[in-house]
Amino acid sequence: MNLKNLKVVFAGCARDCSSFLPDTIKNIRSYSKLFKESHTVIVENGSKDKTKEILNQNLSENDLFLFREDLTRLPNRGQRLETARNIIIETIRENDKLNDCDLFIMIDLDDVGTYRINNKDISKAVEFLFSKKENGAVFANQLGTYYDMWTLRDQKYCKNDFWVEALQFLIKNKNLSEQISKDNFMEAKKETIDKKTFSFNVNMPPILVESAFGGFGIYKMKNVLNNKKKYKGVQNIEVISKDQKKINPLFNWKKKRMEYSMGLFVYYFGTKKIYENVKHHTIKFGDKYKEHLEDIFENKKLNEDISYYLHRPTATDKSMAPKGHDCFYVLVPVPNNKSKINWSEEGLKLKDLVVRKMEESLLPDLKNNIVEDFFLTPDYFEKELNTKYGSGFSIQPKITQSAYFRFHNKSEIYNGLYFVGAGTHPGAGIPGVLSSAKVLDKIL
Ligand SMILES: Cc1cc2nc3c(=O)[nH]c(=O)nc-3n(C[C@H](O)[C@H](O)[C@H](O)COP(=O)(O)OP(=O)(O)OC[C@H]3O[C@@H](n4cnc5c(N)ncnc54)[C@H](O)[C@@H]3O)c2cc1C
Repeated sequence: MNLKNLKVVFAGCARDCSSFLPDTIKNIRSYSKLFKESHTVIVENGSKDKTKEILNQNLSENDLFLFREDLTRLPNRGQRLETARNIIIETIRENDKLNDCDLFIMIDLDDVGTYRINNKDISKAVEFLFSKKENGAVFANQLGTYYDMWTLRDQKYCKNDFWVEALQFLIKNKNLSEQISKDNFMEAKKETIDKKTFSFNVNMPPILVESAFGGFGIYKMKNVLNNKKKYKGVQNIEVISKDQKKINPLFNWKKKRMEYSMGLFVYYFGTKKIYENVKHHTIKFGDKYKEHLEDIFENKKLNEDISYYLHRPTATDKSMAPKGHDCFYVLVPVPNNKSKINWSEEGLKLKDLVVRKMEESLLPDLKNNIVEDFFLTPDYFEKELNTKYGSGFSIQPKITQSAYFRFHNKSEIYNGLYFVGAGTHPGAGIPGVLSSAKVLDKIL
């Protein structure tokens, strides 16, 4: 296979890797020379060392280095990696020069990336990749113990996520109130991790896998672009500890049938015009209120006849906006994410709709006066705040989901675990949430 006929995108995620980056970039540049055309996309986030500086010093014509400070607000490394990798794929999708390439090569930008794979092996790997139509990607092996068990999935060596098994084993064998002891760890290691420790001989032929990585993965670009699934870096798992109570059948029944509240579209905006006549709180109902509620809760679809709540804090406190300016948020009830609405498309449309509606009835010439804005959709509530189905107010506050029928303040599963907040008794809203703290104070 003549690599000189192929165009390639190298990609990676960077954070605090300045001690390895010069060598990794040197390797990328050197691999690039093997191909007809090469591009590099790197997403950096939250580095405290010289990573940003090194990237800027090395920036050349075919490079896209994206510095995404916004990812820092994601508390979990897995979530940050997931988002950064999805940003890389989206960047390629939207850029015709990049999505026209034949190969996508993901490379670890830490110590693993400093290892220089020899040209012959890269050539052989690409040749193998194109030898069968059904091959989508090819991944590196490692000398010694195979370490990248997070991504390896195949029928023989690693069918499932064994880290989940390790965690479940660990929790199952201890009481929730106990610290995890060294003995707990050693037992979990023996029972799960040690059983999955192996190395692949370098001379072995390629192994068929569903996924893998190992610091260097070569993908057919076509497969990357056609893959509708997104990178996932986190998962929810069920853990059961030694001291778990016998579950009350009512709890399982409740868990299964609980219905969740609507989602919220929240649009924050600042204007260079002051709307003196608008009060602190304004609620506007659409014409077909009943049908609108049915669309939100039953049909789970958007419609144009929206109702909304407009909040103007400057009506009572002028210091909320700079002099000569005004600030607002508008909240539009929408279906929660059980609807499967694609918010990356519908969000902008809904923003335009609500701006138009407010312009017609409350805020004349609004569009031309907006100076700053952003919006949140149920995706934000689901992905960043962890609310189920991206609902705005947890489980619905209806009679059959209230009091004893709501989730209790004292855990129905674990001893020593208690809840306050919107999803528990008495319910959502700041007064409800504060009351739940008062109730719990009494229980304790
Ligand atoms: C736009 C909007 C306007 C509202 N207006 C009003 C109003 O005017 N009056 C009123 O009474 N109520 C109002 N509410 C409702 C009220 O804000 C909520 O009911 C209340 O804040 C819920 O409190 P909580 O403590 O249960 O949850 P939250 O305030 O949502 O706090 C939960 C926190 O947990 C964090 N979290 C989630 N998962 C994890 C994890 N695994 N690890 C660590 N942290 C995690 C989340 O990021 C979040 O910060 C409004 C809600 C919204 C969204």
